[in-house]
Amino acid sequence: MRFEIPDFDNVTTGFDPLPAERLTFQITKCEQRQSKAGNPKLSWELTCQSPGHEGRILFDDTSLLPQARFAVKAIVNASGAPQDASGFDIDDVIGCSVDAQLSIQSYCKACEVAEGGDVEKCSSCGTEMKRSNPVDGYFPSSL
Ligand SMILES: [Zn+2]
Repeated sequence: MRFEIPDFDNVTTGFDPLPAERLTFQITKCEQRQSKAGNPKLSWELTCQSPGHEGRILFDDTSLLPQARFAVKAIVNASGAPQDASGFDIDDVIGCSVDAQLSIQSYCKACEVAEGGDVEKCSSCGTEMKRSNPVDGYFPSSL
């Protein structure tokens, strides 16, 4: 079977990172999964509400390992959802809004090298960089 794809010789990732700013997101999904190393984590899906970026999806993973739970705590604190000494309910955080301070990271698959900031092409090999938005911190929603 043949697929006809317009402009197939010029495909790009089509992904422009969000700006390295503090943006507001609604928590739209939270699922428990396993990392590649087999450790438990929560995978969050956040939908941007900030003007100009509405509807953009951001994915973030927070480890559930004891030494890394601060990231889960940070997002639950920022959401304002109820929590107690033993945890929180995922249903309570879904729909809550949080602010996320984003940065931009660029990664070259060919060289397996990451560069900070929004770098379009790898400085070593010229390949198009895969860009992502790591979250530097979560804060209560400003909207
Ligand atoms: Zn490279």
